Amino acid sequence: MTQKGVTVWFTGLSGAGKTTICQAVEQALRAQGCQVEVLDGDIVRENLTKGLGFSKEDRDENIRRIGFVSHLLTRNGVVVLVSAISPYRAVREEVRQKIGSFVEVYVSTPLEVCEERDVKGLYKRARAGQIKQFTGIDDPYEPPLNPEVECKTQQETLEQSVHKVLEQLAALGYLPQAVA
Ligand code: ADP
Repeated sequence: MTQKGVTVWFTGLSGAGKTTICQAVEQALRAQGCQVEVLDGDIVRENLTKGLGFSKEDRDENIRRIGFVSHLLTRNGVVVLVSAISPYRAVREEVRQKIGSFVEVYVSTPLEVCEERDVKGLYKRARAGQIKQFTGIDDPYEPPLNPEVECKTQQETLEQSVHKVLEQLAALGYLPQAVA
């Protein structure tokens, strides 16, 4: 059976759970024999978008490049899982329009919870003024208005979040059958 390509775009604050959910979705899809590729913001910024900063222009350029690669893969039947803060609504919409087969997953964990987790110690440094333009602290985050999926990790388990994503992919016809 030919697999339909799709870009599954995880957006949300740092520490919201994008990478964690993405990795679990990746595992579940691979177990089903799907062709999957992951583009993680932190890793992409070390190669594809190396040298870009955190101004609005650079953040938008970061997203456009990720979107470009996602498009190439998507049109070749790959399920592309993107995990990137991607704080600006307009460029997320632009990428959605270009790719077409696009599912937006809003990992909506509130700032207080992300800050409490502080997985990478970045919030502490941002509060101390050691990191500037940190999303949620001194840089904006524009939530999606109509995401296909919302993961509320402060009140649901990782398994529940993963299930929601898989269920939606199946409902939209991107998976051969309900694998969720
Ligand atoms: P992001 O990629 O959005 O920056 P990460 O996935 O790196 O976030 O970190 C999220 C952190 O939150 C991880 O330490 C993860 O274990 C934790 N966490 C707690 N509950 C959940 C949940 N329900 N879903 C996803 N992550 C969760």
